[in-house]
Amino acid sequence: MQTMLTTTPIIDILEQQRQFFATGKTKDVNFRKEQLKNLKQAIINNKEAILQALKSDLNKPELEGYYELAVIQDIKYALKNLNAWVKPKKVTITPEQFPGTARIYPEPLGVVLIIGPWNYPFSLMISPLIGAIAAGNCSLLKPSEIAPSTSQVVAKIIHETFLPNYITVMEGGVEVSKQLLAEKFDHIFFTGGTKIGKIVMEAAAKHLTPVTLELGGKSPCIVDADVKIKAAAKRITWGKFLNAGQTCIAPDYLLVNKQVKQELVAAIKECIQEYYGDEPANSPDYGRIVSSKQFDRLTGLLQDGTIITGGKTNPTERYIAPTLIENVSLDAPIMQEEIFGPILPVLEYEKIEEAIAFINNRPKPLALYLFSKDKAQQNFIIQNTASGGVCINDTVMQVGVTELPFGGVGESGIGSYHGKASFDTFSHSKSVLQKTLLFDLFSLRYPPYKGKLETIKRLFGS
Ligand code: NAD
Repeated sequence: MQTMLTTTPIIDILEQQRQFFATGKTKDVNFRKEQLKNLKQAIINNKEAILQALKSDLNKPELEGYYELAVIQDIKYALKNLNAWVKPKKVTITPEQFPGTARIYPEPLGVVLIIGPWNYPFSLMISPLIGAIAAGNCSLLKPSEIAPSTSQVVAKIIHETFLPNYITVMEGGVEVSKQLLAEKFDHIFFTGGTKIGKIVMEAAAKHLTPVTLELGGKSPCIVDADVKIKAAAKRITWGKFLNAGQTCIAPDYLLVNKQVKQELVAAIKECIQEYYGDEPANSPDYGRIVSSKQFDRLTGLLQDGTIITGGKTNPTERYIAPTLIENVSLDAPIMQEEIFGPILPVLEYEKIEEAIAFINNRPKPLALYLFSKDKAQQNFIIQNTASGGVCINDTVMQVGVTELPFGGVGESGIGSYHGKASFDTFSHSKSVLQKTLLFDLFSLRYPPYKGKLETIKRLFGS
């Protein structure tokens, strides 16, 4: 693996990409489609290697590996819609602009940097890349060093499929990230934690580079008393313990109506048993914590409350059992930082207003989950809370709706992607007004202004 890079090769690669971009080749829609097809084929050809790398980095079960391979569907979607996306969009004009037409032209930004995290280390590199290719950019990818096997597979696929002056990968850790961030890009797309997101934005500001920040945070999950508890528990348990809780939109903590707390806890315990057996450590369907550093951080969080179920750990395997915890102090790290692991605090409320106030008093989360049968209550919560997205009566599934832009707000992120939003994120909307010199309908604008004021007042509304 290429771990250390001097500044010179980065500058060289960037220069080569700028030169390639300047040839205008990436503006050709057929070229973009060709490259998307090449990427799709390369992923299909390397399917086994990708699944193995995910297994090695995160003990990801094969079935969950296929969730990452769903990027193939994203490529198909982009291929199907690209002709429509690239088309300039006509907008209406007011009479004083006659004769003329106004259109929005989506144009590529140039050379973009994509930095990825380790939790879905394949798809979170490739998914933004699809948008970058579709929009006609050159790209430089920096996968997470914390998932080294997947980082290598991403590098292999990209290096075998594309010329480095178009798309390339730089593997490595923080030092490589820092070297990259010192350079000027036309866009930076970052997926990772809020803390590093701030570092990325600060570095980008020096060059006035626009950023998309796909960050994390504490996504609450409200469970009201009127729902089928067993059905809610099934979906909560799945969304929380998928990938051993290392999912940016996993429910971070539960806010459950006091009346059904015991019933919900019992149902989640039952689901854990159904999904992973009596001993989840032996389940082929349960993941592991990515690194010892994360393992130590998470085992530290286990001290922040009373364990209801789970709590077992094994440092050699970096195993942490699916855990429910209560009596957590709101000032303790478990309620102050994103958990990002298989530990689920259970908090209770008596009136729904308390749950809403609790959420609104904290940083805006990436996802908000509500289990409730009451439509009026669902709408009330949609309208009276702020979050990147909302999912009612399910968890995590919102990420699978291609046409829903995916992203955070406030501390959970800036910008969004998926489907058309990916194309928009990597495009500049260029505004173009085209006029003719045939005649001048709006000649009132020219001085001298004498005798024109009354008409202008009437036209512009005073
Ligand atoms: P991270 O912020 O630690 O690292 C992300 C990337 O930043 C890595 O490639 C890493 O090498 C690089 N990096 C680390 N330190 C850096 C520094 N000082 N300067 C420059 N670059 C640096 O995030 P992570 O631990 O890989 O991922 C976990 C976080 O990502 C969680 O907070 C999770 O919620 C979030 N996440 C968000 C999404 C989303 O789509 N919104 C998806 C997955 C993960």
